[in-house]
Amino acid sequence: MKNTLVIKELKKTYDEGKEALKGVNLTILDGEFFALLGPNGAGKSTLIGISCGLVRKTNGHVAVQGFDIDKDGDAAKAHVGLVPQEFNFSIFETVENILFTQAGYYGISRKEAAPEIEILLSKLGLEEKRNAKAMTLSGGMKRRLMIARALVHKPTLLFLDEPTAGVDVELRLEMYTFLRELNKSGVTVILTTHYLEEAEKLCKRMAIIHQGEIKMLGTIEEITHGKSLESVYLEVTSTK
Ligand code: ADP
Ligand code: MG
Repeated sequence: MKNTLVIKELKKTYDEGKEALKGVNLTILDGEFFALLGPNGAGKSTLIGISCGLVRKTNGHVAVQGFDIDKDGDAAKAHVGLVPQEFNFSIFETVENILFTQAGYYGISRKEAAPEIEILLSKLGLEEKRNAKAMTLSGGMKRRLMIARALVHKPTLLFLDEPTAGVDVELRLEMYTFLRELNKSGVTVILTTHYLEEAEKLCKRMAIIHQGEIKMLGTIEEITHGKSLESVYLEVTSTK
């Protein structure tokens, strides 16, 4: 099987001296639905930011679909979609414009982008809101807009950074269905979450990251050995 994401000895020290990643090794295979678990400050968003070309790494290697982010950054970026932790679109723009603008960043013309945008608006239940300004959307719709925006350039690897934080149960379940289908269609998905049952439901393999290091990696069975994921998680993340 092909490697979609290969991370080797990845280190990140922020300017203030904070060691956010202390030598992470991680390989994600084509078609996986993978969870990155860990408490606030563990380094999850930093790992994602580096993999998406948004955060500069201090050391180590990252390749997406075989493209090294240092040598083939543009090719690597073309394969990656990101749903960031915080809403970061312009609230004064319309839903449709946000999607077309995003396509433009990848050099995709309006004409080329239009069919994919139609599909995404429909699948994510945003058709009727296409001409609405983003500021008028409900929280759940904003979240769906972020997912649509991450997919306009048809990435093969989608990162979701805490996509369901503060999302109500109904929308969460809808999102799971959408993400499962997306994954079945061939897109590799990596999500970070605080909800352990979310990882258990959606993902075969997961990593528990704590203080910039991967402490556990494997299938749920390999990680828990019959214990509950919660007890293992608490054990791993309580160590200083
Ligand atoms: P997580 O997403 O798991 O909560 P982060 O990757 O956001 O963790 O953060 C890891 C560590 O790096 C934290 O201690 C955080 O305070 C620090 N950090 C994150 N971003 C920055 C930044 N831009 N500048 C300085 N420190 C940062
Ligand atoms: Mg984070």
